[in-house]
Amino acid sequence: MQTKMLINGEMTDGGGEALEVLDPATGKRVAQISEATPEQVEAAAVAAHEAFESYRLSTPSERAAHLHAIADVIEKNIEELSELETLDVGKPWPMAQNEEMPLTIDTFRFMAGAARTMSGSATGEYVAGHTSMIRRDPIGPVASIAPWNYPLMMAAWKIAAPLAAGCTMVLKPSEITPLATLRLAELLADVLPRGVLNVIHGRGSSVGDRLINDPRMEGISITGSPATGMAAMRAASHQIRHVHLELGGKAPVIAFDDADVDALAETIRFGSYFNAGQDCAQPCRVLAPDGVYDRLVAAVADQVAQIRIGTPKAEGTEMGPIVSEIQRERVAGFVDRARASAEIAVGGVAGEGSGFFYQPTVVANVDNDAEIATTEVFGPVVTISRFRDADDALRIANAGRYGLASSVWTRDLSTAMRMSTELRYGMTWVNTHGVPTPEMPWAAMKGSGTGCDMSVYSLDAYSAIRHVMVAH
Ligand code: NAD
Repeated sequence: MQTKMLINGEMTDGGGEALEVLDPATGKRVAQISEATPEQVEAAAVAAHEAFESYRLSTPSERAAHLHAIADVIEKNIEELSELETLDVGKPWPMAQNEEMPLTIDTFRFMAGAARTMSGSATGEYVAGHTSMIRRDPIGPVASIAPWNYPLMMAAWKIAAPLAAGCTMVLKPSEITPLATLRLAELLADVLPRGVLNVIHGRGSSVGDRLINDPRMEGISITGSPATGMAAMRAASHQIRHVHLELGGKAPVIAFDDADVDALAETIRFGSYFNAGQDCAQPCRVLAPDGVYDRLVAAVADQVAQIRIGTPKAEGTEMGPIVSEIQRERVAGFVDRARASAEIAVGGVAGEGSGFFYQPTVVANVDNDAEIATTEVFGPVVTISRFRDADDALRIANAGRYGLASSVWTRDLSTAMRMSTELRYGMTWVNTHGVPTPEMPWAAMKGSGTGCDMSVYSLDAYSAIRHVMVAH
């Protein structure tokens, strides 16, 4: 198993504390990987800093070629990389390969095209005898921090846009799921120019903290929890740095009386549980008026009760374990605290076996202000609550601290348009939920972050607008 880091084009063992990587399906250790020392974090930052001097001057077509080359490498090694994702996160096989890898590869291919679309908007004479030009230039070396829920896909979002924009970077995957990212780093060691992409391993509190505070890093890009986003903003405030944050979510799923209940229940069965609910856009907070409430609870409970929970490779597994024991305890804590005031319609208990399993859970009759309705659980738990009318639904949904994903379920065009206009979420789907495509932004508002990943708009986080004026 590949456990080395990539620093300045060289594969190197971490010299710091050894961290265990566990298989969530068995709880057993699959690797022990030493994290980067302070000197190694610095060496990675120096490498990105030095490589920036030439990479920032590369042409869009050269960057596009690099991004296509990365996509080719992943495509060629798709089975091995998906195996590592499955082992690391406990994802059902072959979902990791069939659902996530195509989007991961397509993200690089899309960004290869996007790299060639960047242009300034105005060139002309705004002062007599002077010609002005607008340039979009890369912001500098970027410190990128990725989470554990979709390790390689999140790494792809963290890598593709900065490289397309002309930035170099140091990437730190989550310390609990580094396997596929470290293997990708090895596969890319000879594909990218030395120092353009550096990958280091370690905990957030040590290696991550050191990286985002390194004076050579001019951008900080985080996908993770709000606490890590705040750490990034604090680090940036000491040196005045660009900050790009994609953080947690608590997606409201607003079903009106005319909603297609069966379609919604099926969407929840897949979308809320397929990564054991560990998804920032998870459709987790269902809201319904009295007219459809009972039917919806019955339909969702019926679908969720059929989910086949099991080890990733077992035939027919729809949902695997939670990523870690700590995360399982956190999820169970939310459900246990909700028991007194709500109804556990399905699940609410740990799964069998030595892995970190937790039954797919539906909690009904949840008060809209309850902890479980307003705080991100990040596990296989869906709540169902009531609302009176569209105004009430908007008030409830917009009161939340998060602003990532949302969906509206209705056959009425006016209702759909009003809700999508007035919801304060970076993404609103109508009669579906969570469908991603690289052309469209994965967009955050409010406490869910700043800006977006994917789409041409993600390049804004990694490029600075400049004015050049020529007197003649
Ligand atoms: P986390 O914030 O605990 O960890 C994310 C990464 O940040 C890890 O690599 C970790 O080591 C690092 N980190 C932690 N503290 C740090 C610090 N002080 N300085 C630097 N780095 C630090 O999040 P997680 O538990 O890995 O992931 C789950 C969270 O990520 C959820 O809130 C989820 O919603 C969010 N997420 C958001 C998106 C999105 O696109 N908005 C996508 C996936 C996950």
